[in-house]
Amino acid sequence: MMNWHEDFPQLATSHTNGRYTYLDSGATTLKPTRVIDKIKEFYSYDVSNVHRGLHSSSNKATSLYEGARTKVARFLNAYSDEEIIFTRSTTESLNLAAHIIASLGLKSGDEVLLTEMEHHSNIIPWQLLKEKLGLIIKYIPFDDVGELDLNEAQNLITDKTKVLALCHVSNTLGTINDVEALAEMAKDKGAYVVVDAAQSVSILDLDVQALNCDFLAFSGHKLFAPFGIGILWGKKDLLNSSEPFQGGGSMIEQVEKENSTYLPSPQRYEAGTPNVAGAIALGEAIDYVQEIGLKNIYKHELELLEYATEELLKVSDKIKILGTSKTKVNVLSFIVEGVHHSDLSQLLDQQGVAVRAGHHCTQVIFKKLGLSGSIRVSLSLYNEKEDIDYFITCLRKSLEMLV
Ligand code: PLP
Repeated sequence: MMNWHEDFPQLATSHTNGRYTYLDSGATTLKPTRVIDKIKEFYSYDVSNVHRGLHSSSNKATSLYEGARTKVARFLNAYSDEEIIFTRSTTESLNLAAHIIASLGLKSGDEVLLTEMEHHSNIIPWQLLKEKLGLIIKYIPFDDVGELDLNEAQNLITDKTKVLALCHVSNTLGTINDVEALAEMAKDKGAYVVVDAAQSVSILDLDVQALNCDFLAFSGHKLFAPFGIGILWGKKDLLNSSEPFQGGGSMIEQVEKENSTYLPSPQRYEAGTPNVAGAIALGEAIDYVQEIGLKNIYKHELELLEYATEELLKVSDKIKILGTSKTKVNVLSFIVEGVHHSDLSQLLDQQGVAVRAGHHCTQVIFKKLGLSGSIRVSLSLYNEKEDIDYFITCLRKSLEMLV
């Protein structure tokens, strides 16, 4: 099994009571030394604001920032750099996508189709619009194994459907959704397709042209890059037909006392000083995963997931895994009958094991399943079999205390 453990300095830290075992990469990934160094390098030697000064350090910062945009565009197989907007996060990108689509002409009675496995950040922006515009929100259901019901999706997609917004990979069930098939159904009816790639970005090759979508969102911090930098990719004609999101410096053409004109994308959506270091570090993180190869990362995480699933089921027959699709990746959510997930995660934490406990910002899933939450183990390229073995040992010990 390949091993990238040593690229991540946080994994060398010790825990007072055991081996530090980070199994919460769905929440955020750890950062490799080269990304941390890149941030340090920028703040040590290259600080200057972008798109403003004519002096050479501003030009250098601008070219580093724009170079990062080009890397993201190539990473996503975008049609052009102008389709890449730097945001704060997936959340901000999804809010921006909702704003752009609304400004292209949503009206009362129009339908937005989501799925029952969406993260709150792909539900609330649409609910906010629903209240403002009188939209109708519908949900594609998932079945017992955690896969979307494509027949039901076909019934739900009608002439009234104006938007299909869905996650590529579920952060709770781990399912990889068939975005291409669903996008084709939605496109047949002329709906816009928005893809939340927060969880897929560090595992699957993303190709916006193959996915056949109009917008795609992800966060840098889930791709080994820092917090506070995200991406919205959108088709250029749509981006240039919409109203700006925020107003301020850098997004204007001409400002008059009463009215102003705006630059095209991406400047139109990047008002004010952006997160320059974040963008540059995201570019470095993209280089990092491309050098490793996303296919190798996927293979590694799938092997670990299969091993973890087998070992977990041996621990107790009171364990139930949520999401057992054949097309799933690095997420292992489970409950233990009679044990509260918070108590269990606390005991694991005391032994150095970091897992997530709760509803993972997917309350619609848990309400459907009649559960208050689960434990979620989520894996990344730096995890090893030893992490799983240690987690299983700690889980057994914890359950002895709790049951
Ligand atoms: N969508 C999915 C599927 C997620 O897993 C997450 C974060 O966990 C988000 C959206 C929101 O990402 P962020 O908090 O970085 O905006």
